[in-house]
Formats: sequence, structure tokens, C-alpha cells
Amino acid sequence: MKNMSNLIIMGPPGAGKGTQSERIVQELNIPHISTGDMFREQIKNGTELGKEVARYINQGQLVPDDVTIAIVKERLSRSDCSKGYLLDGFPRTLAQADALRKLTEEIHRPVQCALNISVDKDALIERISGRRVCPKCGNSYHVIFKKPRVENICDTCGSDLVQRKDDTPESLKVRLDAYENQTKPLIDFYKKEKILFEIDGLQNIDKVFEDILVILKGETK
Ligand code: ADP
Ligand code: ADP
Ligand code: ZN
Repeated sequence: MKNMSNLIIMGPPGAGKGTQSERIVQELNIPHISTGDMFREQIKNGTELGKEVARYINQGQLVPDDVTIAIVKERLSRSDCSKGYLLDGFPRTLAQADALRKLTEEIHRPVQCALNISVDKDALIERISGRRVCPKCGNSYHVIFKKPRVENICDTCGSDLVQRKDDTPESLKVRLDAYENQTKPLIDFYKKEKILFEIDGLQNIDKVFEDILVILKGETK
């Protein structure tokens, strides 16, 4: 299949979903829909929703399905999704995957491709502990693997970079458990639908992106 543009990207916390998503959406000119970014935006703005989700996120637990599905439903209904979409960090449970099937049918854009980035646990710990993010535009950097041009300053907007509140060893443990128990079963879900594509996330950022492009552009390796 050529030029797929209804996409999801999956993988454990720190696998590189956000990093690859930034590049994919530039290449395909589709909206980047990150539930994590949307929740952090709500928290930053001090909304009711932000207050409700903060306690889950800070502890590393998943936000309840009904809340999460509702924000994705609203986001997918906006007109910019008429060209396609990249969902990053959603779905994370089977209930969310079922809901997504219905939502994407309603907008006549069923998911065509589920990219699954795999990375082993040691590398995840290394990536999460060195991750720095821009509080303004959400871009992520790494103190060793993706240094900003100027130390601790966002290349795009010049803001000071910060460490995410949930990028602590305690929270990471909870997140990895949530991934194993609740999210990993989705690999089989999308395998059965024959739209799962495996990506070796242990390679460097450029090489991972190259592999993704081969899949999205329908070129055979
Ligand atoms: P990571 O970089 O660890 O993959 P995200 O930025 O995608 O994390 O998400 C941060 C947090 O936001 C998660 O640990 C979880 O608490 C919440 N969250 C994000 N997406 C979902 C989702 N689809 N379902 C439930 N909770 C979510
Ligand atoms: P996720 O969205 O899956 O949680 P991120 O894209 O935020 O992951 O990446 C987690 C951290 O690892 C960031 O600091 C990022 O710069 C870094 N990173 C991403 N991809 C790679 C890679 N292929 N090799 C090394 N470091 C990476
Ligand atoms: Zn920035």
C-alpha cells in the first residue's frame, strides 16, 4: 500500500515515539496527535481536565479510558484530520483500540498502519533519564543522543528545557508495568488486523526514521 496517512505509533515509554513523530508529520504534512502532549498542555493551563489527569500522570499511571477517549474523539473530529493523522501514545489499552476503530470509521479514515518501536529496558532507562523537553513546543531532546544546539535551550523556540515530572525512576517503573500489562496486548490486536509494522528502535534516530519511511512510502526493502 502506498502513501499511508492514517497512522499510529506505539512503543514503551522512551522508545522514541515523539522524536519520530515530529519527523513523520513534517514529511507527510498530517497532524501529530499526542495524548501525552495534550494532557501536559491541560495541566500547564490549569484546566479542570488538567487537574483531573495530573495525579495519574505524575505517578506514571494511565489516565482512565473514558477521559482519554473523549479528548481523542474531539481531536479527530477537527478538519485538519481530513488529510490523515498520526496518533502518538494512543491507543494504550484494548478499550481504547476498540473505541478508536469506531471513531476512525466515523471519519472514514480507518487506521492503515501501526508502527511498533521496540527498545529493550536498559536503553529505555538511559533514554528516559537523559530526556529533556521543551515546555513550550513539546520537542524532546537528550543530553547525549540528541543535544540541542545550545545547552539546555530549545532549538525551535529558545525556551529553557526541563525534565518531565514523570521521568523519575519510581514513575518509570509504574509506566513500564502499565505498558507490559495494558499496552503490549495491542501488538497482537494490530497483528490480527494485518497492519502492524515492527521497527528496531535501538538504532540511531536517523536510521529508525529511514526504516519508517520505507514502510510508509510502500517501498520494498
Ligand atoms: P511516554 O513518553 O512515557 O510514552 P506520553 O507522553 O505518551 O509518555 O504520556 C505521558 C503520560 O500521559 C502517561 O504515562 C499516561 O499517564 C498519560 N497518557 C498518555 N496517553 C495515554 C493514553 N492513551 N491512555 C492513558 N493515559 C495516557
Ligand atoms: P517517547 O515519546 O516514546 O516516550 P521520545 O521520543 O521522547 O520517546 O524519546 C525518549 C528520549 O530518547 C528522548 O530524550 C530522545 O531524544 C531520545 N531518543 C529518541 N530516539 C532515540 C534513538 N533512536 N537513539 C537514542 N536516543 C533516542
Ligand atoms: Zn521549544
